[in-house]
Amino acid sequence: MTATVLHPARTTSQMVRGACPALSTPMMTGDGLLARIGLDAPIAPADLARIGELATRHGNGLIDISARGNFQVRGLTAASARALETDILRMNLPLRDGLPVETGALAGLDSHEIADPEPLSSSIRAFVSEHDLSRRLAAKFAVVVDGGGQLPLHGLLADIRLLAVRREESLFWQVFLGGTMATGRGLGLVTDMDARTCVTLILARIAVMDVPLRGRELDPAEVKNWLAPITLENAVSHAVTRPLPYGLLALADIRKAAARIGIPFGQCRAETLIDLGQQAATVGITGIRPAIDHSLVVFGREDACQQIMDHSRPLILSHNDPRAKISACPGKPACRSASLHTHALGEIAARQAESLLDGSLTLHLSGCTKGCAHPSKALLNLVGMNDGTALIFDGKTSDMPLKLIRHGEEAKALGALDELVRLERGIGETTAKCLTRLGPARLEQALSQGLS
Ligand code: SF4
Repeated sequence: MTATVLHPARTTSQMVRGACPALSTPMMTGDGLLARIGLDAPIAPADLARIGELATRHGNGLIDISARGNFQVRGLTAASARALETDILRMNLPLRDGLPVETGALAGLDSHEIADPEPLSSSIRAFVSEHDLSRRLAAKFAVVVDGGGQLPLHGLLADIRLLAVRREESLFWQVFLGGTMATGRGLGLVTDMDARTCVTLILARIAVMDVPLRGRELDPAEVKNWLAPITLENAVSHAVTRPLPYGLLALADIRKAAARIGIPFGQCRAETLIDLGQQAATVGITGIRPAIDHSLVVFGREDACQQIMDHSRPLILSHNDPRAKISACPGKPACRSASLHTHALGEIAARQAESLLDGSLTLHLSGCTKGCAHPSKALLNLVGMNDGTALIFDGKTSDMPLKLIRHGEEAKALGALDELVRLERGIGETTAKCLTRLGPARLEQALSQGLS
């Protein structure tokens, strides 16, 4: 069965081995090499199943779906990584290459989007390719072009971010530098016509630097000066973030639908994808795409989407599923840097910390201080260290711990916090507000009592 090609994208038939850096330059992890497969468009259900088969044949059968919406095949050797690359390139997939210019899985299709970000992102990609800028930008440099809609890209880190806004009948783009939507520094508003110039101007300036800077390292005042001729106003509004929806999503074409399915802790066995791909083909799903926040989006008729959701009950189908609010890196034993069994602890937390995981906060479980699964701040972090597990409140994994918990007592610590929230939360108060109101000293006291 052939996927409905929802966006034209560069396919592997136009690529040669070594042309896709993420695939051709796998990185070492605790369970061998990891190769990333980034896609710019949906793929056929049969191709999803095929990726699962290749992960079993060449890797250890574990696949991540990353926070940015990439497949990551784990457990490869140098030889099997090359074989995987060859097999993937043969599949003629819409592989992403060059500078990531992210638009989201529903771009151009979403019934709620303010603007289709694809034309703008394509013209930025074309500029980067034409001037061969990718190799002159910092590794991991990323541009986000967010057209708004049901799956906003607010949580993605971006060196340059454009967010669509409408003023009366006209389309404008808010410009941000570095960070997530909440932490990025606003540079102002540009017209739709000037949006491409805005991004390409910043990229061109960075590309001639001796050491190319990341967006967060640039001086916003200086960048505002670069953009002064095209910036309309300095004020930008940071949109209110809300939980990303799971389940059925409405498309602009009312004859079609989409459904978002979450992968618990961003990792699954290859068999899960093989089964999903085969089932999707059977019910008439036309396309599947990995999406932000460790999820898959399937496209097809509404009844086909509903059938595939019914088939995916063990996965995340609602933002009320406590696992949807747990960010966990692969942890032990998958990563050799890890000192914490993140997924096992995540399963326990989802079952036992009902009051804590009310959907108002993110619980971040990290195998080490690198914080791969959630580089930005989280209200609660449990971070594996050599001498225990650090509980960090309202910060990043590298921040000062509130308490160091003995290895093996992490579930007990979460239980103590869950009990604290259950006793102290006011009527109508969320867990996030309750914990913030109680403050670090009260949390520390509850932890000490619970662990004594
Ligand atoms: S955060 Fe640390 S333990 Fe987790 S995947 Fe990253 S490097 Fe490994």
